[in-house]
Amino acid sequence: MKSSDEAQDDELQTEHEALLSFVYMSPVGLVRSDAAGRIDMMNPLASQLLMPLVGAHGIDNIFESLSSVAPELRNLVESFTAVRGPVCENHRIFVTPAHERAVVLSCSIIKINAQLLMTVLTDVSRQVAAERRARQTESWLAAIYTNVKDFSFFSLDAQGRVESWNDSVTRVTGYSEVEALGSTLARFYAPGQFLPHRSPEHLAFARDQGWHVEECWCETRQGTRYWGQILVAVSREEDGAFTGYSVVLRDITERKITADNLKRLLTTDHLTGASSRAHFFETAEAEIARAQRDGEALSLVMLDADHFKRINDTAGHLAGDEVLKRIVSEAKQLLRTQDVFARLGGEEFVLMLSGADARYATHVAERLRAAIEAARVVTQAGEVRVTVSLGCVTLSKSCSTLQALLHAADLALYEAKTAGRNCVR
Ligand code: GH3
Ligand code: MG
Ligand code: MG
Repeated sequence: MKSSDEAQDDELQTEHEALLSFVYMSPVGLVRSDAAGRIDMMNPLASQLLMPLVGAHGIDNIFESLSSVAPELRNLVESFTAVRGPVCENHRIFVTPAHERAVVLSCSIIKINAQLLMTVLTDVSRQVAAERRARQTESWLAAIYTNVKDFSFFSLDAQGRVESWNDSVTRVTGYSEVEALGSTLARFYAPGQFLPHRSPEHLAFARDQGWHVEECWCETRQGTRYWGQILVAVSREEDGAFTGYSVVLRDITERKITADNLKRLLTTDHLTGASSRAHFFETAEAEIARAQRDGEALSLVMLDADHFKRINDTAGHLAGDEVLKRIVSEAKQLLRTQDVFARLGGEEFVLMLSGADARYATHVAERLRAAIEAARVVTQAGEVRVTVSLGCVTLSKSCSTLQALLHAADLALYEAKTAGRNCVR
């Protein structure tokens, strides 16, 4: 039988051991020292946190160990006059300079009595980095909201309805907060562009791929049309749960006009507005490949103005230019939008008819010939008439490349010329 004193000793012993193992396994660094900072006990995490700071010196004194990064600690303790209490709480110590991967410790010092200090150290690097990122994002967004004039930023809830608003939305769309909140993206489309499924489809793409961009005509509240670029990105909680969408809506009308102009410059003939030679070669190569793959028909019609030199010589070069323009406008009136009518050079043109067999191509060529023959071109030199000769060719096994087709069309055109002009061969 143990005496009650012995039992109490045992109890104390157990309690002491429990306390020690708590200190040992604690997820924070714990350091016990005297008022001058001399350490008599610390747990493994504390030495792990302090080790990189002390180098070869060893960890004997808490103030000395931290003196290179927190020289103020000794002063803090010395100027703390109370008998006991917290000297500092969550005092941040920047172990490495403040940047994305800075090592930051949080330090709390508790004065237990005149001769005993407990220092608690925690590695808060991750938390500080997260705060820093959040601050950066915030100032970044604030800068964008106020400085970038042709962007607007807002968010949509999971159902695709506008749930946040800021000045940038009004700046681009003209809609006030009350008018914008709760509406779908369709609110911003130009009326002619509005398709009921467009907004949900856009969001569905974004959900599939994480984000999606669309461009379409939009309209401000005041009725001004602009070419809008709408970027939708899926928003998620940290745990990945879907919460809605972030939207960037931009007015890129100017860019669109520049791009359209550039495209037009590159693909059309300056004088007549027909497709350019380069554009023809590019599209024809692709169309021929596509027709062959899909087993579809395709025809080319080569066209050359008759006795054009004579027109220039009698009516003048400017009148000749008017005649060339008229040939193109007659062709444009007659053709479908997918047909390519290109100026190969001088008074020679080529027409590509996708899906057209020889019969149909000849029919189109004949209508074109008749329309041009009937045209009365009004010029400074008076009314001028013109006729054209045309050669047709259709894609076949023996004539299967662009080069072969152009050569064959050229021969057919030559036949039309020798047969007396103003005809189709
Ligand atoms: P044919 O019936 O055999 O085709 O006779 P043609 O006179 O039309 O043939 P030719 O190829 O000998 O003459 C074409 C003329 O077209 C010569 C050239 O000065 C003229 N020409 C070429 N490009 C232009 C242009 O951009 N504008 C004008 N006005 N004339 C052009
Ligand atoms: Mg000619
Ligand atoms: Mg010619």
